[in-house]
Formats: sequence, C-alpha cells, structure tokens
Amino acid sequence: MPMIETLEPIAVAAPAPRRSRLVRVRWGRRVVTLGGAAPVRVQSMTNTDTADIAATVQQVRALAEAGSELVRVTVNTPEAAAAVPHIREQLDRLGVDVPLVGDFHYNGHRLLTEIPACAQALSKYRINPGNVGRGEKKDRQFAMMIEAALRHDKVVRIGVNWGSLDQELLAALMDDNARRAQPADAKQVMYQALVQSAVSSADCARELGLGADRIVISCKVSGVQDLVSVYRALAHRCDYALHLGLTEAGMATKGTVASAAALAILLEEGIGDTIRVSLTPQPGESRTQEVVVALEILQSLGLRAFNPSVTACPGCGRTTSTTFQELAKQIDDFLRAQMPLWKSRYPGVENLKVAVMGCIVNGPGESKHADIGISLPGSGEMPAAPVFIDGTKALTLRGEGIAQEFQQIVEDYIARRFGAGAASH
Ligand code: SF4
Repeated sequence: MPMIETLEPIAVAAPAPRRSRLVRVRWGRRVVTLGGAAPVRVQSMTNTDTADIAATVQQVRALAEAGSELVRVTVNTPEAAAAVPHIREQLDRLGVDVPLVGDFHYNGHRLLTEIPACAQALSKYRINPGNVGRGEKKDRQFAMMIEAALRHDKVVRIGVNWGSLDQELLAALMDDNARRAQPADAKQVMYQALVQSAVSSADCARELGLGADRIVISCKVSGVQDLVSVYRALAHRCDYALHLGLTEAGMATKGTVASAAALAILLEEGIGDTIRVSLTPQPGESRTQEVVVALEILQSLGLRAFNPSVTACPGCGRTTSTTFQELAKQIDDFLRAQMPLWKSRYPGVENLKVAVMGCIVNGPGESKHADIGISLPGSGEMPAAPVFIDGTKALTLRGEGIAQEFQQIVEDYIARRFGAGAASH
C-alpha cells in the first residue's frame, strides 16, 4: 500500500487576470465588448469577393451562426466598398446583427472617405500600418482613416502582420541595430519592429483624437514561438485590447494544432481579448471550420462554454467494437445540431458534460465525472452498458437500441436539468 502523505495544495490552473482596456464594438443594439473583464471573443473573416453581395451575406451569416461574434470582410476596391452597406442591410433584414469589420490595405483612406456609406455600415476598421502608404503620404493617409473612425464613431484595429511589416521602420531599426557595439540578432529586431509599429500607430491614433477604448491592436506572425514572444512583449508595453491569432496558420491538422498551441500559451497568461484562427480551408471545407476551432480552443481552456462537451476514450485493444466511436460521434453531432434551439430553451446547457467510454477500465470512472455518461462493453465483457447520471449508476442498457435509448436519456436529462422550472443544480 502506498504511504499516505500530507500533500501540499496544488494550484488550480487558471488564466492570469487580463488588463486590457474595454472596447465596445457596436451595430444597432448589438454591443460586442472586448478586453476588460469581457470574455475572449471569437472572430472570423470571409473569403468571398465582397462585391458579390449574395455570397458574402450568406457566408457572414454562416460564420455568425457558427459562433463568430465579429466578422471581417475584405474592402479592397470601390465595388467592394459600395457593396458593404447592401451586405449590412441584407444581414439586418435576416436578423443577423453581427458587427462587420472592414479589412483595408493601400487604399483604405480613399474608400472610407469617398464611400461614407461603407464607413458607416462597418463597426470596426482594420488598418495595417505596413500598407497605409510610404514617406510623407503615410501619416496623411493614416490620419484620414482615423478621422473616418472618429466621424462615424467606430473602433479601429491596428493590425500589424510580419508579411507586410512597415519596411521604413524595419530598415531604421536594422540600421540602428547595426551601429551598436553588440548588435541584437535579426529576429530580435523584427520583434521590436512589429511591436513598435503597432504601439506607435495606436499612440498616433490617440493623438488624432481616438480614445484608447476605440483601439485594438494585433501583431500577427506565423510561427508559434514568435507569436508568443511578440505578444508577451506587446502585453508588457501597452494596455490596448489585443486581437490574437497566428497568421497563415496553414491547413487542417497543422493549422489547427499550431493555432491551439500558440493561443493556449498566451490565453493562459491572460494575453488576448479576441481571437481568430486563420485556417486555410481544405477543398470543399466550410469556412466555418475556423470558428469551430476557435470555439473549441476557448472551451478546452475553460475560458468559455459554447456547446456541451463529449468526453470519449480513444479506444484500444480492449474494445474491437466501433460502437463507442459511433455513439460518441452521434451524441456529439446531436448535441451540436440541437444547440441553436437549446440555447434559449435550456440556459446553461452549454456546460453539460457527457462521457462515452469504450470499456470497464476507465468507463465507469470517467462516466461518474461527467453529468451523464455511458460505459460500453469492451471485448469479453458482459454485453451491458451502465449509464451514470450525476455521478451514480442510474440504469443499464442492453441490446441493439443502446444508441437511441442513450440519446433519449440525454435529452430527458437536459430538459429536466436545464428546462423551465428546473431545480438549481
Ligand atoms: S476506456 Fe477501455 S477501451 Fe477506452 S481506451 Fe481505456 S481501456 Fe481502452
């Protein structure tokens, strides 16, 4: 028998308190708060041609329904800018009040000035300081965009990206570094340039009259360690709300894992007020996948709850049956499909925990930790599946209809626990 020792208390992992300024992004009566004590927000970006109003409306709607709380659209031409008010109008008619963010590069100063209906229909402008203009034009064109934000009462994101970093600033920092007795390595200079570009542009916007509560900043890079280094420095340097994301994260598994790895480290440190997962969609894959991944990152860190969670074991040689995999998927699909309806009918249902396990080794234990769990029979076990509700064994299912019966049990449990008149749990 192991010796019973007096244990030192183990600190419970929790994100560090955040310290960013609170920013309110508005559309109509919808207000999305970022920073301060607000939850970390999820945002996404369309990949339609913004001038194609119907396609863009459809995709914005899909992204919003998937859980995106802000949706960014490219505004790159006069046609795209002219389409924005119509997109907004159609979304409003459909009851989709998600705030729209306009993504501007090179000609944003002209589009926001010459097409005021576009400037008005957007809730937030993304300005890339590396793509505002060169030389003396830069300050003037940057000021024109900030003036548009002031005129229309909008929020601005100063969005630096190392693929389009301000080359004049980078060259100046490189020269300065080269003159030092002990120059820093080139990566350090790049980090400095990213942070300085974002913070000095934000400060410049403030000098032009934009309040700190109207400014969000980001410094996106495509390497996990680079992102962590840059955002730690950024969080140390300023208290602007931070938009966090790994740029050009890549496709499928690589993009998902890299984004989760980078964002998890920073979010756990309290860094990041809104996130975007920049996945390259696989052919035929829905754009909403980037929202699904973002929601999962926040939910798995315990920062927010969006959908009931299904714990399933990975399976091993103790079960050759695929029944538990099929049942786990079926329950997961069922819960996700019901959520749009359940959100209002069953408040709190997003916190539900369901377990679907493959055999007796961890099945009963894991099921007891869930609100509702089932332990399916492994190879050589009795063909019976005990169901655990609120930590105690409630019944045992047998036979062909286990999947349907378990689904019904889950549904009844949800109605009982989260429905109108449910006793507090
Ligand atoms: S619960 Fe059973 S089937 Fe699932 S991984 Fe563990 S030992 Fe294998």
